[in-house]
Amino acid sequence: MTLGNSTRSRSAAVFAEALRLMPGGVNSPARAFGGVGGTPIVFERGQGARLYDIDGNSYLDYIGSWGPMILGHGHPKVLEALHRQVDLGVSFGAPTEAENELAELIINAVPSMEKVRLVSSGTEATMSAIRLARGFTGREMIVKFAGNYHGHVDSLLVAAGSSAATLGAPNSPGVTVGTAKDTLVLQYNDVPGLEAAFAAHGTKIAGVIFEPVVGNMGCVIPTEAFLLALRNLTRAHGALLICDEVMTGFRVAYGGAQSRFDILPDLTTLGKIVGGGLPIGAYGGRADIMDHVLPAGKVFQAGTLSGNPLATAAGIATLKSLRDEPPYERLERLSERLAEGLSHAAATAEVPHTVARVGSMMTLFFNPAPVTDWSVASRCDTQRFAEFFWGLIERRVYFPCSQYEALFVSAAHTEADIEETIAAAHAALSLDD
Ligand SMILES: *Cc1c(COP(=O)(O)O)cnc(C)c1O
Repeated sequence: MTLGNSTRSRSAAVFAEALRLMPGGVNSPARAFGGVGGTPIVFERGQGARLYDIDGNSYLDYIGSWGPMILGHGHPKVLEALHRQVDLGVSFGAPTEAENELAELIINAVPSMEKVRLVSSGTEATMSAIRLARGFTGREMIVKFAGNYHGHVDSLLVAAGSSAATLGAPNSPGVTVGTAKDTLVLQYNDVPGLEAAFAAHGTKIAGVIFEPVVGNMGCVIPTEAFLLALRNLTRAHGALLICDEVMTGFRVAYGGAQSRFDILPDLTTLGKIVGGGLPIGAYGGRADIMDHVLPAGKVFQAGTLSGNPLATAAGIATLKSLRDEPPYERLERLSERLAEGLSHAAATAEVPHTVARVGSMMTLFFNPAPVTDWSVASRCDTQRFAEFFWGLIERRVYFPCSQYEALFVSAAHTEADIEETIAAAHAALSLDD
């Protein structure tokens, strides 16, 4: 099929230049279209649920900057907060009142968080959380799950999802054997595997880090038994449970997946939505654990731009809007309709598939088996996905450019947008396409 590059000639030209200037032409691999082939689209502007490329095409956006833009692009309250702060100053490297305000919003929203430290990315949050888990317990081993992505932290880049999964390079060169040996990788939702790991290494495990809904091998849903085992086994063996809510926080519910599923981790990591589209991350949890972080305690962690005034302004405006006018019920309805429409489109085209969804994050897997872990996810028909992706682009719908990324519905999407998307999916999947 034609990739229709003629209508994106400026994108193609800019990307050709980018290839000369940046490795792979991008500043983060998920953008490089490695999973679908062809040339990335270069954007100029976002408004509401739509993105506008530099050739003048508009697309319904289901990436939302990979999660942060739950309110859609250019939300008036976020813009107003940013404009106000720009005039006051963009960085002081000193305390501001806004840091208290964002911390308070987070602590009030997320059940397990008594104290929080702001950082500048999700990667920094997970890196700091596992350092704290090790510093607090005096142990070295960290357990993670195959296909879960926690940013590009060395010791967590073992069997990682997201673009690491797309590129088929879960173990990155540059991650030393010494670093990786303290990371134990298990299958997601595997309760006997978790029990066996604790039976064998219980006294050495500092913490278990997990995505409470996986977004980074496509959307994968945890079983109740798995969540229960995570909490009970870590508690019984004196290990910390680290819930990575960088994607799910304020996404699957205002209080994150932990409020939706009623789990109480020891530490939680956040990012994405809490910065309203600006660079941010956060980690927090039990006060007695957080008080081990410097300067209250001895576990070192710092950041020149941590709690940055622009990021906190955008984060506060976003969280307040989500708190005061909760979009979650409407997002649930729109997302349920989209999931049902995608499933129907695939069934009509007789394409083997399954759809997984929690709230406004979901994935249409080109795999007939329910995707419960990476061993199943890795058997998807990624060629079929690539054709589907380009078929949607031709119809001006921008889905994540990998089978192994979840799509997001935003509060800016309308019923009509969802119906337009379902119609596009029908056309993109039909055999005479
Ligand atoms: C995106 C993501 C990260 C990494 O966040 P960055 O801001 O990209 O460093 C970590 N964990 C999860 C679950 C994520 O989705």
